[in-house]
Amino acid sequence: MNKGLLVILSGFSGSGKGTIMKRLMEKYDNYVLSVSATTRQPRTGEVDGVHYFFKTQEEFDQMIKEDAFLEYAGYVNHSYGTPKAYVEENLNAGRDVILEIEMQGALQVKRNRPDTLMVFVTPPTAAELEKRLRGRGTETEDVIQQRLQRAVVEAEYMQLYDYILVNDEVEACVDELHSLIQAQHKQVGNQKEFIEDICRQLNKREEK
Ligand code: 5GP
Repeated sequence: MNKGLLVILSGFSGSGKGTIMKRLMEKYDNYVLSVSATTRQPRTGEVDGVHYFFKTQEEFDQMIKEDAFLEYAGYVNHSYGTPKAYVEENLNAGRDVILEIEMQGALQVKRNRPDTLMVFVTPPTAAELEKRLRGRGTETEDVIQQRLQRAVVEAEYMQLYDYILVNDEVEACVDELHSLIQAQHKQVGNQKEFIEDICRQLNKREEK
């Protein structure tokens, strides 16, 4: 069986990537979303083990010591990391695993696993980004400002990604993301088993 693909979805805070992920999971079957660990406080409605594994800084540091993370990074005063075991299990079982993570972590993963598909989500304009970030009403003004500053830095590095998804309309964006992942499966690098198999069959024919 072919291994699953590792897909990273990053985007500015307020780009709508959370909504895109939710719809992608509802609409298509073969995707598994990795649940991250974080030291930030849960927002209203967020459930431990579903949206995040909420950890103290000590627990998070212990996981680093145990080499339990595929990657981890700091983001606006808190730590975030991807637990390794769940990702590996699902990739080995042939499922595509999606990491919704910020840029520093994304680049760590790409360095270690160059075959990772890297997608960056952005609203069509900066004004729209600010509107969405304020509109969701989950952060204080101070945090909104810090997240917008972070977006300025992230914009400089968008070019390191494989694809940019402009989130104008959620359903269209979800379908585009699905198509990108499916196309990645067809890349020759991800078809090694198929190629070996057909070569073997053809060689056998020759021998007859
Ligand atoms: P939020 O606090 O809005 O849920 O997430 C803040 C940022 O952290 C987002 O850009 C999100 O994609 C990122 N993030 C969430 N989980 C992880 C993770 O496991 N690793 C890294 N590097 N970033 C993460």
